[in-house]
Amino acid sequence: MNDTTEQRDVTLAGRDGRLLLMSCQTFVNEIVMGDACFVCGASPRDKMFNDEHIIPRWILKRFGLFDKQITLPSGERRHYRGYRIPCCVTCNSLLGDTVEAPISQLLDGDYQGASHKTGT
Ligand SMILES: [Zn+2]
Repeated sequence: MNDTTEQRDVTLAGRDGRLLLMSCQTFVNEIVMGDACFVCGASPRDKMFNDEHIIPRWILKRFGLFDKQITLPSGERRHYRGYRIPCCVTCNSLLGDTVEAPISQLLDGDYQGASHKTGT
């Protein structure tokens, strides 16, 4: 490899240990091929995990999809209820509170409530 094609494994953490930047290779190894939290990169051996539903639970509930199946692009079939990605409890709660709850309100036709809650 020369200087223009060499890829360095640059993963940076803050003083508090929080991941600031994850290299592409570490992302592939730890998240795509591994079982680390897809948001913060934590290992399930270091933090509590409850895994994130790829299709949010509020959508599954609203449309009665928990016991139905999805066909993935690979042809694999999965129950929606088990179609999840590794995620720690902290990140899953943050996503739920700051992203999913306001979006679910927006898509429920309650813009006033969602805009009030998000401060927009
Ligand atoms: Zn996390």
